[in-house]
Amino acid sequence: MKETRHILSLSGGKDSAALAIYMRDRVPEMEYIFHDTFKELDETYEYLDRLEAILGKPILKSNPDRGFDHWLKVYRGMIPSNMRRWCTKNLKLKPFEKWIGDDPVVNYIGLRADESRSGYISAKPNITTVYPFREDGLVYEDVIRILEESGLGLPKYTDWGRTRSGCFFCFYQQKIEWVRLKQTYPDLFEQAKAYEFDQLKYNKDGNAFYWCGDETLEELEQPERMAEIERQWEEKKAKKRKSPKLVQILTDVEFEDDPGREDGCLICQL
Ligand code: SF4
Repeated sequence: MKETRHILSLSGGKDSAALAIYMRDRVPEMEYIFHDTFKELDETYEYLDRLEAILGKPILKSNPDRGFDHWLKVYRGMIPSNMRRWCTKNLKLKPFEKWIGDDPVVNYIGLRADESRSGYISAKPNITTVYPFREDGLVYEDVIRILEESGLGLPKYTDWGRTRSGCFFCFYQQKIEWVRLKQTYPDLFEQAKAYEFDQLKYNKDGNAFYWCGDETLEELEQPERMAEIERQWEEKKAKKRKSPKLVQILTDVEFEDDPGREDGCLICQL
């Protein structure tokens, strides 16, 4: 009989980081792993380095054999989308399954009790998936508290308005996040634009997809369009300020992700 392994995949986001801290003393034999897409923000790597120091254990990298650019060619230049999530499958799920092989594994997921998300997780029969935050009734406020008390805090990318970990071009971003990406990392915005533009070479039948779904990044970056997105965002924030949640009063968190959102990715963005 093989011994059961305990594995927690870190995304570079706050929920999986908080879960790692929460589980640190409960499951000392935990393996912490990170599935690098090589398209993450620098702040994500920095956050994981600081988390590693708090955990007192290495965060191991289950790097995929081939990176995003390889798979993009395989998929004939078709950038991934919510409906075509080849990125998660090849850059996150497969490396995870390769990492565990046929070993019996308990897989720890940082889904909170106030979320109704479901998503890509491995369905291999040797894996038992558990949700400690859900089981213990921990919600968004608890995650913030765990991070504050540990000294880790939130990832630095939240300072400029990004709410999600994962690839810098992730199609799950809100439009305001694209605007912030352009303002903060114009070079990364240009790279994302190039991916979008390049796919037109492959998809001559006009079956193109854009990162933002209904508009190209070239359209989005027009000054008047960016101003409109920012204005809409400010209006939304003003509404939220009228009825702030306790966690926002206590922590000054502006870019709260919406507890209960159903999109996103359980591997990339927890
Ligand atoms: S972060 Fe987004 S783009 Fe990157 S692998 Fe995950 S779902 Fe795909």
